[in-house]
Formats: sequence, C-alpha cells, structure tokens
Amino acid sequence: MDVYGLIGTPVEHSLSPPMHEAAYDALGMDARYVTFEPDADDGAAAVEAAATLGVAGLNVTVPFKQDVLSAVEPDGLAAEVGAVNTVDYAADPPRGYNTDVAGVRRAFDHHGVEHEDAAAVVVGAGGAGRAAAFALAEDAVSLHIANRTASRAESLAAEVRSALPDDRDTPTAVSAGGLDSLAERIPDADLLVNATTVGMEADETPVPAEYLHDGLAVLDAVYAPLETRLLREAADAGATTIDGAWMLLYQGVEAFERWTGEDAPVDVMNEALRAKLR
Ligand code: NAP
Repeated sequence: MDVYGLIGTPVEHSLSPPMHEAAYDALGMDARYVTFEPDADDGAAAVEAAATLGVAGLNVTVPFKQDVLSAVEPDGLAAEVGAVNTVDYAADPPRGYNTDVAGVRRAFDHHGVEHEDAAAVVVGAGGAGRAAAFALAEDAVSLHIANRTASRAESLAAEVRSALPDDRDTPTAVSAGGLDSLAERIPDADLLVNATTVGMEADETPVPAEYLHDGLAVLDAVYAPLETRLLREAADAGATTIDGAWMLLYQGVEAFERWTGEDAPVDVMNEALRAKLR
C-alpha cells in the first residue's frame, strides 16, 4: 500500500484526505492519505522521518511550508516562492514543489479565463498571496499586490520582480500598496484574487463592492463559505466568479499528478471536495 499524507497544524478538518482517497478509489489504487500534526519546530524533521518510513508523498500546510525547504530539493518554482506544499519521495533527496501556484493558474484555466497579458490584482501577501502573485506574474501585463500591511506587499513585489525572466521585451509591471490602492487598480483590472483571510466564516470583504465590474474574473482563495461576500458582490457586478474550492482542488490535482505521473480524476476529486463543503 502507498501512503500519502499531510503535515500541518491544525489538520483535523482538512479536506485533502477525502479528496485524495476519492481519487485512489476511482483509479483502484491501493493507497491511503493520512494527516499528521508535528510540533511547531518539527516540520523539517517530520519530512525527513517520513522518508525513512517509506511514505510516498506528503502535502505540507500552515505553519510548515517554509520550514520544510531545508529537508527537500525544491524545484525552481518552489525555491522562488520560498514555500513547499508537496513533497515527492520518489527522488533522493525528496523533491519539493509548490502546487498552490498551479492551483491558482488551473482554477482560472478551468473557467476559461485568460491570464496571458492580463492586468492582475492580488489582495494579500501571506502564503496564498505569494502563490497567487507568482502564479500570475509571468504572463500578466501588470501585477498589483495590495495588502493591509503595505510593507509586506512591497517585499513580495520585489521578490516577484527579481524572479521574472528577463527575456521579455516588456516585462510585467509589478507594483504594490496598501488596501487603499485598490480603488485605483481594480477598475482597470482583468483578474482579482482575494488571498486574505477576510470573508472566512464571516460576511466581510476586503474589496468595496463599488470597485467591482463586469470585466473582472474574481478568484477568492477563501473556501468557507464557498460563496463569500466578495464573490456574491462580484457576481452582482457581472464579474466571472471562481470559488476557493477550485484552487484547493487544483493544488491537490497537481500534487496527485506529481506523485503518480497519472492524470488525476478531477471530477471525482471535485465532487468529494464539494460534498464536504456543502
Ligand atoms: P496568511 O499567510 O496568514 O495571510 C493572511 C493574509 O490576510 C495577510 O495578507 C493579512 O494581511 C491578511 N489579513 C488578515 N486579516 C486581515 C484583515 N482584517 N483585513 C485585511 N487583511 C487581512 O494566510 P494564508 O495562508 O495566505 O491564507 C489566506 C486565505 O487563503 C485563508 O482564508 C486560507 O484558507 C486561504 N487559502 C486557500 C487556499 C486554497 O487552496 N483555496 C490555499 C491557501 C490558503 P497582513 O499581512 O496585513 O497581516
């Protein structure tokens, strides 16, 4: 039997086990997906120990995504983002990936939303904000990062800028500011990602409704509730809306595909995930 799993704190209510185990069942795989909660300082040690136990793959969530970098060989993207959420033990040393980035890109792709040459705005500069910024930076014509603590947005923008390939005639214009900068940026934007915790289990939004318009595609990383106030107001404004379960789904799909080399049964995983969120 192949053992996959998740390390993080807390992971008790994680949606990854049902999502991945639905895929194993659908493909007739002899595999299980289990959760572990190491102590706060033990993220890297847990990743190393899993190798000795013959674990096939691990997902990594808060608060360990940065800590485990030292225990894996990160691919280029994970090294740039500075965070690993997927470890593959098929290689020695184990390889570290960041599939949150693919989660953002594939969520837009699934909805037929073009991110090439888009004007993108990311609200938030924590873990999800980093993933969204790196996901959109390369293809976008412009990327603006807005955060409650503006200095965090500015640091992230500087990191993204320095990671951009220098082979484009017109490199992506990357800017940053506080939440007040949204008033100027969203009216001209094509893509908007909420990567803050605002809206989680509360009828709140980080983006005033009057900035929203029908030329926008809005991805909310928050998935509890599925229909956040931001998405409700975006739909009212005529925008395309993408809930946070799509990002969660596609980071899991990408991890599954890294681990197994097979196409993931996306519909089955999506159904299992949404059954837990209803
Ligand atoms: P995080 O690293 O703790 O970052 C939190 C972010 O929210 C920071 O930018 C923070 O701003 C901002 N924030 C917190 N309270 C705020 C407030 N009252 N007003 C304005 N901004 C506020 O968290 P994270 O891991 O990035 O997660 C952010 C959200 O994304 C969570 O809801 C999480 O569940 C979701 N998420 C979803 C997925 C998915 O696959 N769908 C994946 C990862 C995360 P400051 O810097 O100013 O504190």
